[in-house]
Amino acid sequence: MSKTSRRGFLGAVSALVVLPALSAASAVGESKRYAMLIDVDKCYGCMACVVACAAENNVPLGSFRTWVEHLVKPEGMRIFIPKQCNHCDDPPCVPPCPTGATYKTPDGLVLVNDELCIGCGACVKACPYGARYINPVKGVADKCTFCDHRLKAGLLPACVEACPTSARIFGPLHEVNELSKTINSRPVQVLKPHTGARPQIYYISLPDEVNR
Ligand code: SF4
Ligand code: SF4
Ligand code: SF4
Repeated sequence: MSKTSRRGFLGAVSALVVLPALSAASAVGESKRYAMLIDVDKCYGCMACVVACAAENNVPLGSFRTWVEHLVKPEGMRIFIPKQCNHCDDPPCVPPCPTGATYKTPDGLVLVNDELCIGCGACVKACPYGARYINPVKGVADKCTFCDHRLKAGLLPACVEACPTSARIFGPLHEVNELSKTINSRPVQVLKPHTGARPQIYYISLPDEVNR
């Protein structure tokens, strides 16, 4: 993520509370780069997002397109960290694919073309986030798509819609940046920034332990 866009996110954090409505209203017919912001402080590990994702996307039992990890602070407090494909700007999963099945869209989504995928698993190995698996039913690579079928219908990703605390905020990156003149101070971070993958899932209130 560039320093410019990072500042945009940083400044937009409080304003982002309204983004689900913005996204739903503007998801049709515009070229945009999508991103998600996860407010760790608002996640209490209810797993509604995981269940909604599995139902929406026919995720096989035992596989996950999104999941929630947790850590226990020394004082005993549990911190929940939702994870999924980061729809990286420079995705390490794309170059190793021998058939071009894995690709990045102009909207910033990283997707898999089932027709081209031969299930070799090269992309699964290449992802530094453990976000991919080989679908045991379809025999092809699978992972979060940001619910691209729902975006095309003007809807939010299922996990975002299901979250009872608005811990997951989704929207076009340019809208987020337009809100950048407003407020707030909590740092915005990505997972494993050292990989150079430039993830498009951003976190606020991410515990330091996560990226150590
Ligand atoms: Fe690819 Fe993994 Fe990045 Fe998703 S998180 S775009 S699967 S490298
Ligand atoms: Fe490409 Fe499919 Fe192999 Fe992944 S499993 S590298 S998408 S052909
Ligand atoms: Fe956290 Fe929201 Fe998912 Fe519940 S639905 S686990 S609060 S992100």
